[in-house]
Amino acid sequence: MLIDDLRAALPADRLVTDVDVVAGYVHDEAEWARHGSPVAVIRPRSAEEVRDVVRLCVRHRAPVVARGAGTGLSGGANAVDGGVVIAFDLMNAIREIDTTERLAVVEPGVVNNDLRAACAHHGLWYPPDPASAPWSTLGGNVATNAGGLCCVKYGVTADYVLGLQMVTGTGELVRLGRRTPKGVAGYDLVRLIVGSEGTLGIVTEVTVRLRPARPPERTVAGFFPSLVDAGRAVAAVGASGIVPSALELIDHHCLRAVDEWKNMGLSVEANAVLLARVDAPGDAGETEAAAILGCFEQTGATWAARSTDQEEADALFEARRLAYPALERLGPVLTEDVCVPTAAVPEMLARVDETAQAHDTRIATIAHAGDGNLHPLLLTPPGDDAARGRAQAAFEQIISDALDLGGTVTGEHGVGLLKRDGLRRELATTVLDLHRAVKDALDPHHILNPGKVLPPRY
Ligand SMILES: Cc1cc2nc3c(=O)[nH]c(=O)nc-3n(C[C@H](O)[C@H](O)[C@H](O)COP(=O)(O)OP(=O)(O)OC[C@H]3O[C@@H](n4cnc5c(N)ncnc54)[C@H](O)[C@@H]3O)c2cc1C
Repeated sequence: MLIDDLRAALPADRLVTDVDVVAGYVHDEAEWARHGSPVAVIRPRSAEEVRDVVRLCVRHRAPVVARGAGTGLSGGANAVDGGVVIAFDLMNAIREIDTTERLAVVEPGVVNNDLRAACAHHGLWYPPDPASAPWSTLGGNVATNAGGLCCVKYGVTADYVLGLQMVTGTGELVRLGRRTPKGVAGYDLVRLIVGSEGTLGIVTEVTVRLRPARPPERTVAGFFPSLVDAGRAVAAVGASGIVPSALELIDHHCLRAVDEWKNMGLSVEANAVLLARVDAPGDAGETEAAAILGCFEQTGATWAARSTDQEEADALFEARRLAYPALERLGPVLTEDVCVPTAAVPEMLARVDETAQAHDTRIATIAHAGDGNLHPLLLTPPGDDAARGRAQAAFEQIISDALDLGGTVTGEHGVGLLKRDGLRRELATTVLDLHRAVKDALDPHHILNPGKVLPPRY
């Protein structure tokens, strides 16, 4: 039995089988995605232990699901029946911060904000900043190619990963990539693994590029009568040539939910709020802020201003970060993650409104609006199956609309379980075949996170 072999191979404290404790590791934040029951949760302390576990799972043909903090929103970290979950909460060391080469080497369980804080101590900055940065891990960020608030200017996780150590689906411990700023030796396997959602390899170490710390940001806020008006402002900013360091959208459903939960005094009289930041130093920053303010005013903002009050600006961004957990408190949330060209943001937001009405579904929206990445959040009352059915239909409609407008089904959360059908609709069959060929090469026994990403039939 797999469990006997695991017990024989690992120190006792690495193995968790207590059902109550295991229950805390079997699903992520995607409440609509199903999950299975693993035979054990493994909490390794080294890459070699991960390799040994994968080798035993190869022998038993048992599924292996890697898990960071479980903040995923697509079911990617959900356990599979009869397998193991490898949880990286004990592999959370920052091994190195090299100030000369501007890079950091970390274990996969390091929490994003902890890395950012450690870098700041050295006058350095790790840009990728998912709204889940206080909780999510570098391993999870790499596996989902996480985006975030400042990605509109500074790019996503893949733009910062130089090298990886990982265990393949045959139990080999390998190093991919490099430590140098440049390097083109062989195929770019690092890029292949980043965003592969634990289906091609289990990441045991990450080397990331860092930037020098940047000057303080300036904030511009705008209140809009409708989501579509806010979308027009986003398109106007895109057309202006100014690249903000953040351009986030939050609607009144989300603001109200956060305020009711945290009592932050967000008395905003608007259906949609845009929050922009710019970080050019000195006068250039002033010019950028003024240009964005102009875009907001010209597109119908009922109120827009440069924030002179840092606390107020931080509170609005904090509300943006807390929107998802605030809505989760109200009932099951089905999260969209579509991404459309910036010019199509107003049309996409209009279609989301139409979908909410057509399918009688309550939809709250937050968005990394500056890069066209929208998160319509579909809310259903607990236990209401009819509402669930309508929400599922609305979910499919939003995906159809995003594809119709030249977008993609997932901008940053990954395919996991919830968007496998969307992937089938987005990619040509020949391209899905290429995906399957890559999977067969790196995980020939299909034990790594089986059932995730690739659609079962196409
Ligand atoms: C409030 C909130 C806000 C969010 N905001 C953002 C956002 O702004 N941008 C964004 O991109 N996402 C966001 N997310 C989604 C989520 O936080 C990200 O997908 C994040 O990268 C997941 O990290 P995690 O450590 O929680 O990983 P998990 O959820 O545990 O796992 C995610 C995926 O990574 C795989 N995985 C984890 N560790 C490894 C490893 N070591 N090796 C191989 N595979 C591994 C898992 O199998 C799974 O497929 C948000 C989620 C919440 C709840």
